[in-house]
Amino acid sequence: MAAISDGELRRFILERQPVRGFWIRLDGAWRELRSHQHYPPLVESLLGEAVTASLLLAATLKFQGTLTLQLAGDGLVNLLVAQCTHDFVIRAVARADAITLGQASFRQLVGDGRLTVTIEAEERSARYQGIVSLQGASLAECLENYFATSEQLPTRIALAADALSTGGVLLQKIPGASAQGEAQAAVSQAVWEDLQPRVATLDPTLLLRGSAEQVLAQVCAEHDCRLFQGSSVRFACRCSEGRVAGLLRSLGPAEMHSILAEQGAVTVTCEFCGRPYRFDSIDVERLFTEGANPEAPHSVN
Ligand SMILES: [Zn+2]
Repeated sequence: MAAISDGELRRFILERQPVRGFWIRLDGAWRELRSHQHYPPLVESLLGEAVTASLLLAATLKFQGTLTLQLAGDGLVNLLVAQCTHDFVIRAVARADAITLGQASFRQLVGDGRLTVTIEAEERSARYQGIVSLQGASLAECLENYFATSEQLPTRIALAADALSTGGVLLQKIPGASAQGEAQAAVSQAVWEDLQPRVATLDPTLLLRGSAEQVLAQVCAEHDCRLFQGSSVRFACRCSEGRVAGLLRSLGPAEMHSILAEQGAVTVTCEFCGRPYRFDSIDVERLFTEGANPEAPHSVN
């Protein structure tokens, strides 16, 4: 099976049908992301699927900025955040109860809650948010529900993740040309009905270790399918001293001085990459005497 160094996302279309899709596999980028954190295997798998899903979502949309996929519920995983940029730089974090169960279903992991997709444009002028309740027996089903509700596009998604890789496929029925006759529309619908179960029954091992060509052979081999050049995916955290300083400033001098008195310094560790930031008393003074134009704190940092 094909080896992919970091991560790759590829678009494909069916030449004669109003169907498009994306194939993705993460290898090095996923291993680097998970090297910064320690989660129980079940939580890690869900995190891997969420990162993969965020990239598939980003690929279907046109934006310049950051897309955040967030799961929040009353299950064992309280909060899960997967982020990617328009050029496919990823990071992610999960907060979970200590899981002693050997097995837990998706429903037990997430409980009742909601899936939120937020897109923040680079200029901070535009912000889009879509929210759906967490419904279905898998993250893929939740996302299909998201597409049906928020985008009104029939979509089928398969996701898989293990310690080495993640993989996924998104297949979408796009509105046909307005000139499309009734007969052609019926054919297109029949093709779509035929393709859906093939996505649902994709072998997870094929998603995790196979190439785009191998996966598409299972999904749409008999259709004229065009596979486009891939885009690379990589892990990087965008935390910085400036962002952490902005966050601390927003807490106010009283809070900072109280922490200083108690602990001698204010230490913040980035949840996404584990990088520590330490502010001693001199640094804290500087926070409130300099920087009249503080950087806004980020909601998840
Ligand atoms: Zn970081």
